[in-house]
Amino acid sequence: MALEEYKRKRRFEETPEPPPRVEKKSKHRFVVQKHSATRLHYDFRLEMEGVLKSWAIPKGPSLDPVDKRLAMQVEDHPVSYFDFEGTIPEGNYGAGTVIVWDVGTWEPLSPVPVRGKFVPGTDAEAVEMLKKGDFKIRLHGKRLNGDFAMIHMKARRPGSKGTEWLLIKKQDDYATAGYDIDKYETSVLSKKSIAQMAGDEDAREWKSSRPASRGKLKAPWLAETLAKIDKKKSKKNEVKMAPTKKVTEERKRRSA
Ligand code: MN
Repeated sequence: MALEEYKRKRRFEETPEPPPRVEKKSKHRFVVQKHSATRLHYDFRLEMEGVLKSWAIPKGPSLDPVDKRLAMQVEDHPVSYFDFEGTIPEGNYGAGTVIVWDVGTWEPLSPVPVRGKFVPGTDAEAVEMLKKGDFKIRLHGKRLNGDFAMIHMKARRPGSKGTEWLLIKKQDDYATAGYDIDKYETSVLSKKSIAQMAGDEDAREWKSSRPASRGKLKAPWLAETLAKIDKKKSKKNEVKMAPTKKVTEERKRRSA
């Protein structure tokens, strides 16, 4: 099952993240989530084969073809992760605040260009290109648009996990020299920055078109206990949310 690693890493009675579930249909959406975890990074996810194929990009995507952005492939995520924003509680995998930085749709591009231009390809070609590690896509997002290549780097070092890819913008009308991702700080859904999301009481709950799920709860008393823990946790978080170094720096930057 494609979501086993996703499941293994998480305790669904503690995290607001959605439970693992492979969908029958894929709608070709993509999402970029800005994730302030131990290290700030951007998670790039493509809806494909019933899951979200996922990469963590430390510097975030760029529209400048000069930039070759390191993208570490991570475990497939469930499609319902698509609009997840909020805070993953401390002590859980990926603890930290998440905002949806971009959303849109994607198309596979044919590996064979026509007269030097990339043309749309098929889903079968997409699966094949992903496997080969030379994956070309076209994005139609609010912030990211145009053609991109994802290139799988061959594991050179012994012990390398082979998860390293590069995300590179192709030259087209959307290419932007000197692209600066920090100019776009807010969520395209809630309009909140990471700092605002982290400080927002309401944001601690699962924000999605789907209701929060705790998986299968066997007993009502357990649900009650979990609700109490949630209350305690959000109180504890209030104290912890007092300006951390990162938040203070972000404020400084914004007021500069
Ligand atoms: Mn992440």
